[in-house]
Formats: sequence, C-alpha cells, structure tokens
Amino acid sequence: MTWNNYHSHTNYCDGTDVPEAYVKAAIAAGMKVYGFSSHAPIPFFECKWTMNIESLEEYTLEIARLKHKYEDRLEILLGLEVDYVPDRMGPTAHFLQTAGLDYTIGSVHFVDGFGTDKGWEIDGPLDIFKKGLHEIFSGDVRKAVTRYFELTRMMLDEDCPDIVGHLDKIKMQNSRELFFKEDEPWYRDELRSTLEAIADSGAIMEVNTRGLYKKRSSELYPGTWALEQALALDIPIMLNSDGHHPQEIIGEFATAATILNKVGYHSAMILADGRWQEVGLSPEGLDY
Ligand SMILES: [Zn+2]
Ligand SMILES: [Zn+2]
Repeated sequence: MTWNNYHSHTNYCDGTDVPEAYVKAAIAAGMKVYGFSSHAPIPFFECKWTMNIESLEEYTLEIARLKHKYEDRLEILLGLEVDYVPDRMGPTAHFLQTAGLDYTIGSVHFVDGFGTDKGWEIDGPLDIFKKGLHEIFSGDVRKAVTRYFELTRMMLDEDCPDIVGHLDKIKMQNSRELFFKEDEPWYRDELRSTLEAIADSGAIMEVNTRGLYKKRSSELYPGTWALEQALALDIPIMLNSDGHHPQEIIGEFATAATILNKVGYHSAMILADGRWQEVGLSPEGLDY
C-alpha cells in the first residue's frame, strides 16, 4: 500500500519549498510516484502565484535532474497545473508543447476579468471574490458560478487536459460567507452538466483534499453529491492533495479514501511506469 500525489506546488510558483524538499518528504512517506504541477505561466496576466515564463525551462530541468538523482527510490513526474483562459491559453497551449510534460492538470481559477490584463480569481481572498462578483457580474452569484462551470466545459471541449483540477473549487467562498447553497437545483444542474462533459472528454477527474486540510471546505473538491454522480457516469478519478508545503503532500488522503469508498469508488487512476493504470483504493492507500 502506498500513496501517490500528482498535484503540488513548489517555490517555482506559490509553494513554500524547493522541489527536492517534496521529493524527500515523498520518500519519507513511502510513496512510489510523485508528480510536480506548478502553476503554468500566464504570459498575459499579472499574477503573483503562477510561474514566470522565464522560469519554465529551469523548472523542467530541475525536475529532470531530480528524476535522475532519485530514480532508484521514487518515480518523479513533470506536470503543470494549467489555467484555461478562453481564446488565450489552456492545457494544450503551444508554448507548453516543448516542455516535455508527463501530464497536465487543467483548472479554472479565473472567471473573465477586470479588463483584458487582469483576470478575476475565484479562489483568492474574499474581497477579490466580492469585487469581481459585483463589477463583472453585477452581484449575481448564479451568473458568476454558471460562467465558472461553462468555462470548465469549454476547456474540456476545446483544450482538454489529462486531469481536471478541483472541479467545484468556487464553493470555497461559501466557507467565508454563504453566497449560494450547494443543493440548489440550478447549481446541481451546472455541476451535473460539467460532470457529463468530463465523462464525454475521457479526462480523469481529480479528487482534491486541499479544502479539507486547509479548512476552506467541509467537503472534498468535488463534494460527495458530485462524486455520486461521477460514479454513475463512470468517470475515472485520482486522489491529489494540491500541496503547497512538503507536509501537505498526502493531506487527508485517508479521509478522502473513506469518503470515496462510501460513495462506491474502490479504485483510482495512477500514472506509473509511463502509463495510466487503475488500482485499488482504501483508507490504507493505493493497492499496487
Ligand atoms: Zn488550482
Ligand atoms: Zn494547485
């Protein structure tokens, strides 16, 4: 039994430590595979939590160096968490093609924006969330959330990643102030349509534990209702921590596996030995 993690951030973007610190933590935790997924550069937005375009080559070289250095102890993979910004960039962006990525995680963090060079972050501070909600969507949270899911569907349709990142992360703002109820029919309809789009795309959906261990969500991303729908749609899942610190690399994985088993998911996808594989999942770990 072991855990793998494919979603993590280092000091190349907004994580705390150098990549090697995560490798050491992964080995100490008995992991077999560890994947790095820094926030890909966004060349046209001012954004403090993504990698600079100038650092992309250095990042790929550093992960390659670690792959080689630790090849006897840990399989290390090179990934990126790539933003989808319609008409501008997404997981299949041209400038990422030469990076030699092992996989991509596609995420929507920006829902339209304040003019052309400043996106609206939906998972940032509360004041920014409120500013965008009022200035871009006239305070209509339903419109804003609907647009968030619409962008996710557009990404799946036009610019499909290997892995869909934290599907319903926009709900994290509800832990600060209640903006909408997650059992409202319009919300569930949006979520359901997006899950259907994932099923059609063939992408893997990550089950992301960051909301739990950061106490920004009482549920996983995505939550239990969405996971039940996903199972009915036969959507393959994988477990990821979205760690920004070496101590977060398997945060709440046992809790997540317990929830997933209860929903009816008893397997998860992993990328190991150069191929995607389905392996058993229980609170003790991945069975392979
Ligand atoms: Zn993200
Ligand atoms: Zn992330």
